[in-house]
Amino acid sequence: MFPEYIVLHTAAFTGRDCDRDMIDQWHKARNWSGIGYHFVILNDKHSQKADGSIENGRPTNKAGAHALGLNSRSLGICCIGHGDKFDFTPAQYESLFSLIRRLMTEFSIPADKVIGHRELNDLVKQNIISSRYRTSKSCPGDKIEMNYIREQLAHITASPEHETLAVSAESRLAMTNAIAVLQQHRAQFPNAQDELDEFIHHPEIISMTR
Ligand SMILES: [Zn+2]
Repeated sequence: MFPEYIVLHTAAFTGRDCDRDMIDQWHKARNWSGIGYHFVILNDKHSQKADGSIENGRPTNKAGAHALGLNSRSLGICCIGHGDKFDFTPAQYESLFSLIRRLMTEFSIPADKVIGHRELNDLVKQNIISSRYRTSKSCPGDKIEMNYIREQLAHITASPEHETLAVSAESRLAMTNAIAVLQQHRAQFPNAQDELDEFIHHPEIISMTR
């Protein structure tokens, strides 16, 4: 997987001792292969583990199960707690910013592609994902200001680490235009949109059209 977005979530759970293992059990109970998030950030309601602890979920080279329609293109981070009821703790924010900064650098992800789960609806509006992926969730929660989070990250510059293939400017332009045409007419092939997205977001294609 080549992640292009970072999607932020809340566990939407007010109980104690919630962590990676608890979420892993929830998701296994849904018959998933295990935890659907790539990272979990604990809050101050854990009896053994520190507020702000970062735990690993799914490896970052595996697609997650956290944002239908964007799973093959994003990393998922879940903050423990309930974002509709309480803001994240200061320690959670501190860990969240350092984790996101690291991922932004590692995967060349710009701040405007750090989104809340509920903002999948903006991607639907922009025709980036199909309208069948519209969500009614408030996740990561009403108390969480995604614009504030993005502002804190905005000064990070994504640095592309992928080698650029030796292709002429001319064929680069032709490729970019061809993809733009496909994007423009995506409504005409509703069942092939996921495959198109996968193609467009293949590292080789990205490096060629950058
Ligand atoms: Zn969510």
